[in-house]
Amino acid sequence: MIVAGIDIGSRGAKGVLIKDGEIISSYIGDTGPESVKTSYMVADRLLAPTGYALKDVEYVVATGYGRVLVPFANENISEISCHARGVTFYFPTVRTVLDMGGQDCKAINCGPDGSVTNFVMNDKCAGGTGRFLEMIADVLGVPLPDIGALSLESKNQIPFNTICAVFAKSEAITNLRKGVAKSDILAGLHEAIAVRCLNLLKRVSIQPDFTITGGIAKNRGMVAKIREKVGLEPKLAPDPQLMGALGAALFAAERLQGGAGAKGMKVHYGYSDATGDYFLTIDGRACDGCGRCVPVCPSGVLELGKTDHGVTQAMVKELVRKKLANVCPGHRACRAQHEVTCQTVCPGQAIAHSW
Ligand code: SF4
Ligand code: SF4
Repeated sequence: MIVAGIDIGSRGAKGVLIKDGEIISSYIGDTGPESVKTSYMVADRLLAPTGYALKDVEYVVATGYGRVLVPFANENISEISCHARGVTFYFPTVRTVLDMGGQDCKAINCGPDGSVTNFVMNDKCAGGTGRFLEMIADVLGVPLPDIGALSLESKNQIPFNTICAVFAKSEAITNLRKGVAKSDILAGLHEAIAVRCLNLLKRVSIQPDFTITGGIAKNRGMVAKIREKVGLEPKLAPDPQLMGALGAALFAAERLQGGAGAKGMKVHYGYSDATGDYFLTIDGRACDGCGRCVPVCPSGVLELGKTDHGVTQAMVKELVRKKLANVCPGHRACRAQHEVTCQTVCPGQAIAHSW
């Protein structure tokens, strides 16, 4: 049984190939401007050392920011679920995950089976993300992979009042012009980001064991600061950047073992046409019928109903289905206007939007 997980993130594209329960290949590269092409490139790089072709891969789960743009995926699953699943493959005792991605940060609590029990995310500000650190590395003229180690050489850390990308950049330039050591500037920025991460983690629940995922988990200076603020030693996977793709591959293996019925339980509402893709997806495996999504939807899109098997779960109202794109603006637009949405209240990440 060969399955793959493809994680098209905002900065990095990752893949994991699993054969009969063992990882046989993995890949990390840059997400280019065209996610569809990138997803094929990830598949090629994953398969090249194995001698298998894409047709040999029996199930593919896509995750990440560009997950709906993986044409050969059988299914897409949120990166929050995939990170939790991937992490618990390595560390079944982990209950708290800090995922530091290219353009957002997430704090996740997970159960022993890798399910998500709570999460919050900061996707409204670039401060503290991979993109932010790239910008700071550029301003200081330090290669990105070196900034963490350099921050650890600081003798006189500079306090930063903000990690708003715009203000922090200007503070960094001002300090550089004053002759402040780059290590001291970097230490101050790492400190400010760590405080912000701590505040994000406090909004879920900081329970041992704890781990950090995403590309920033490779930054030793950042890990040291977060360890100090959180007060827990993070367990670090061999490659924390691959946790989302690994989780996706593990979901793919589960789906395949679950048979065709497993795939059929995921319901897509919407369409794909010349104007693009519009889908609202409800994953029946993750929806427990709690009903929290129904009252928060400002457009009255959702209701609870019974499946053919008599199970209660969320559904898109029959009357809305044909005009869904006119009624639901897509999650990004909805979230910009409403503090809570169907996706933010769903405890199982059962709802996903392609817009
Ligand atoms: S994204 Fe907003 S409008 Fe669309 S279904 Fe969810 S809560 Fe309703
Ligand atoms: S909030 Fe999530 S788990 Fe609860 S009914 Fe809605 S989709 Fe299902």
